[in-house]
Parts: sequence; structure tokens; C-alpha cells
Amino acid sequence: MEDSSFVLYDLKVEVIEGDKPFVCSHQLGDAFEVRGENLHFKNDRPFSLYALAALLPLLPAKQRPLNRLDWMATDHIIACPDPHCGARFKISRIGKQTFKRSETTIVPLPDKNDWIE
Ligand SMILES: [Zn+2]
Repeated sequence: MEDSSFVLYDLKVEVIEGDKPFVCSHQLGDAFEVRGENLHFKNDRPFSLYALAALLPLLPAKQRPLNRLDWMATDHIIACPDPHCGARFKISRIGKQTFKRSETTIVPLPDKNDWIE
């Protein structure tokens, strides 16, 4: 019987210093976590929607196991999209969770999955 589960990493995204002062509303140490499909903001702190927009495309890839040669597996510091702002965002893996496929999609698993090869 095929294993019906898969693993995703939990992530933490944290504001760290760059080489210039911050222009946006970031505060050093502001952070949120990504667990499964959900974002969890710490202590009800605000987080720039522009920075979030720049980070969002990367998060699902960072949650998944990656080839060690893939740049996505090594480049963890993301710049603020405001070119005048010195803020950087560090993405860290902080844990992992196992999900049951049946709890994440109603799409049936094909007998042969050509998509992943
Ligand atoms: Zn910024």
C-alpha cells in the first residue's frame, strides 16, 4: 500500500538588518511563521504587505524538500522590494509536519504521475 502522506517544513521569516537603514515599517526581529497553508504572525505585530508580496512566491518552495544544488535550498536571505530599504528577511526551517494527502486535496492520485518526472 502506498504511503498517503507527505512532509512540509515549517518556516520562520524574520526581519534582519541589511546594509542600509529601514525605510518601511519593519522592526528588527519582526517575524511570522508558515505552518502548512497558514501564516502565523507573532504578537500581533504588523508586517509590510509589500514585503509579504515579495516573500509569498518563495514560501511554498521553501516548505518542500529540495535538491541541495538548487539555489532555493541555499539562498535564505531575501531583500525588501523597496530598493531604498535595508531590511532583509531570513527564511529558516524550524520543523516539519506530515500531512495526509486526503486532508489537503480532493484530486485523486493518478496511477502514474507524469508531472513529477
Ligand atoms: Zn523595507
